[in-house]
Amino acid sequence: MVAIETTGLTKEYGDLTAVDDLDLTVDDGEVFGFLGPNGAGKSTTINMLLDFARPTAGSATVLGYDAQAEADAISPRVGVLPEGFDVYPRLSGRRHIEFAAKTKGADDDPDDLLERVGLDPADAERPAGDYSKGMRQRLATGMALVGDPDLLIMDEPSTGLDPHGIREMQDLVRREAERGTTVFFSSHILEHVEAVCDRVGVLNEGELVAVDTIAGLREEIGGGATMTLTL
Ligand code: ATP
Repeated sequence: MVAIETTGLTKEYGDLTAVDDLDLTVDDGEVFGFLGPNGAGKSTTINMLLDFARPTAGSATVLGYDAQAEADAISPRVGVLPEGFDVYPRLSGRRHIEFAAKTKGADDDPDDLLERVGLDPADAERPAGDYSKGMRQRLATGMALVGDPDLLIMDEPSTGLDPHGIREMQDLVRREAERGTTVFFSSHILEHVEAVCDRVGVLNEGELVAVDTIAGLREEIGGGATMTLTL
């Protein structure tokens, strides 16, 4: 099955084409890295998949449902870690998960979810304002995993993390992949996605300029570890 499919997906804001005729397929169970520099159109694409933005042209399906016409069927099965999410500083980690479960009408055990994202029980009781950036991102991922979604969409989850936080985020993505969750992971840094993604798509000024495995992509651009900044 196909988890995400876009056909000619386009978003224009006045004269600016933020996403330009995007044809993209993400397979079920795949970890897909969505790469591109700031302003490439990654968040706009994600917003259209989630029916937060209306395409100017084209269409998308998510988990087999039309992203616009059948958004209500999609939302319970998709977990989202939005770009720039921050915690409620005074609420404990556990309360964040409980809050997310209540909002989604799910009855997950908060302890299971906290463990799933690598937060230990002592941390779960502390105010999330005391957490490191990496812990905050893992907590946000735990909130996104409420209801055990089939698809996890993470918009720049590794931005601003230190190397330890990045490794923990990558481990978390790997564990989710092992459970069979499809993961759509956006980033502007290849090194953050390459350790975990089956394939990557590279977006530049709204256009999809490459879709390949990491090895294939490195070959296409002439190898080397310098790709981060050729984006
Ligand atoms: P970033 O990592 O900086 O968020 P991105 O790849 O997610 O980058 P988008 O946020 O999708 O990029 O933005 C793509 C382009 O669309 C940018 O030029 C941005 O300024 C523009 N844009 C996004 N949302 C709007 C909006 N609501 N109105 C006008 N222009 C917008």
